[in-house]
Amino acid sequence: MPRIAIIGGSGVYDPKLLQNVREEFVTTPYGKVRVKIGMYEGEEIAFLARHGEGHSVPPHKINYRANIWALHKLGVERILSTSAVGSLNLNMKPGDFVILDQLMDFTKTRHYTFYDGEESPHERRFVAHVDFTDPYCPELRKALTTSARELGFEYHPTGTYACMEGPRFETRAEIRALKILGADVVGMTQCPEAVLARELEMCYASVAIVTNFAAGISREKLTHTEVIELMAKKSEEIKYLLMKSIKYIPKERHCPCKDALKGATGE
Ligand SMILES: [Zn+2]
Repeated sequence: MPRIAIIGGSGVYDPKLLQNVREEFVTTPYGKVRVKIGMYEGEEIAFLARHGEGHSVPPHKINYRANIWALHKLGVERILSTSAVGSLNLNMKPGDFVILDQLMDFTKTRHYTFYDGEESPHERRFVAHVDFTDPYCPELRKALTTSARELGFEYHPTGTYACMEGPRFETRAEIRALKILGADVVGMTQCPEAVLARELEMCYASVAIVTNFAAGISREKLTHTEVIELMAKKSEEIKYLLMKSIKYIPKERHCPCKDALKGATGE
């Protein structure tokens, strides 16, 4: 049973460090999900390509609920993910890693919760308001920062992520506004992925990889091609960072994530 999962974002489609990889189709109330499961240093690890293999699903069409439910059903307690981001912060340069600690949600059309009350397509037919003060798991963040430091990578131990609906990139005015609001980086996938993990009491953390400066900060036209090129250059480093982090994840969870539903349902 895999205890840890990796959700690979743009440019991270294959868990090449896993051995004896098998594929499973997991049935969920929200649809079927293809998950790869393999071994890494005696530990079973699940891997899921967020956009499907080859980036075939755009951010606003990802079945976030099916993905997170599938990992939970497999027994996963902890999720490490990657996300490609544009930077609003001149200190966070293309190629840098940012271990996210905060996020803001500006998405518009997604399914944000498992708890739809009576309409929930599963046995959890209640209403829940989970605490999301700190959206990322402190234990997983620590594992990521420790391994980034040991590997000598350029990284930032904190960063605020603004999640936009996409799939277009942002306007100059939107980026100016997000900067005033305190965002460091901008992307399209952390919401609702992070909150859905919290709703199932799973630990979640994400390492953002800066692929370019955002609109108006960069003088160049923004292209998805530059995102792909940078991710290809960084893919080895991302793999080392994720896999090294795994050994720093404590076996027992002492973080608040595991009790996210306590007091959240009003009972
Ligand atoms: Zn946690």
